[in-house]
Amino acid sequence: ESTLAGILFIISAPSGSGKSTLVSQLRSLVDGLEFSISYTTRAPRGSEENGREYHFTTRQRFEQMIAAGEFLEWAEVFGNYYGTAAQSLRDAKAHGKDLILDIDVQGAAQVLKKMPEAVSIFIMPPTPEVLKTRLENRSRAERVTDTSVVQRRLDQALHEINCLWDYRYGIVNDVLDEAVSQLRSIVLWERVQAEPQGSVALQASTDDLAHWEKMAAKCSTSPASERLLAAVRNFENGAG
Ligand code: ADP
Ligand code: 5GP
Repeated sequence: ESTLAGILFIISAPSGSGKSTLVSQLRSLVDGLEFSISYTTRAPRGSEENGREYHFTTRQRFEQMIAAGEFLEWAEVFGNYYGTAAQSLRDAKAHGKDLILDIDVQGAAQVLKKMPEAVSIFIMPPTPEVLKTRLENRSRAERVTDTSVVQRRLDQALHEINCLWDYRYGIVNDVLDEAVSQLRSIVLWERVQAEPQGSVALQASTDDLAHWEKMAAKCSTSPASERLLAAVRNFENGAG
């Protein structure tokens, strides 16, 4: 028997914003979340394992899956295919879990069209300078020496940030613990909204509920907080 409403969470962010870091912390803090493992044609990075971070596959096999209608959504990002199997959604439902999709802005738009009730969250880097530093650090850690990779991702970030307003929430990932706490609050508050008589709502204290509601409101994109607007402006100014 399911104790959760089966919420679909969509999380997008420009590459290097800290989305993987945030999502992995969220998973250790909140129960009942299932994480969709995407298919991709890119090569594994660092310590990635097939079937854990991604199902790594060939372009040919990916195109067969597109033709067979196996994807809920798919997109081409940085020259590689990425896609979410429709099966992920069915599995999460069967397990009585909420599902998290870590997908790019194109994929998010496709899913929101089919499932407008999905809860969409955009992770914002605080400034272009911070984003550049994080991308460079990660490249160095992974021994990627091609500097055009970082530049390409910065250019792409500007384009993706324009899509922020299509999302229900925006989290500025500046201080990590703060961003994690906001993400957790959004998930719990959405569970309360989806099932006011559900176990999450019934087990929460009045203080918990007030806290989650306040944090969620702070991250809402409509109306947006001054903090979120300021982060967006940092990118608009840096762009010219
Ligand atoms: P993404 O999944 O969005 O591409 P990662 O989670 O890989 O990004 O984060 C990119 C880099 O930034 C990593 O080296 C990570 O440790 C670091 N990072 C993430 N969040 C923060 C933060 N709030 N403050 C400082 N560094 C961070
Ligand atoms: P990375 O190669 O850094 O893991 O991911 C690159 C981008 O692809 C990220 O923005 C990530 O969210 C996105 N992505 C990962 N899986 C999927 C997917 O299944 N569908 C779509 N549309 N994008 C995905």
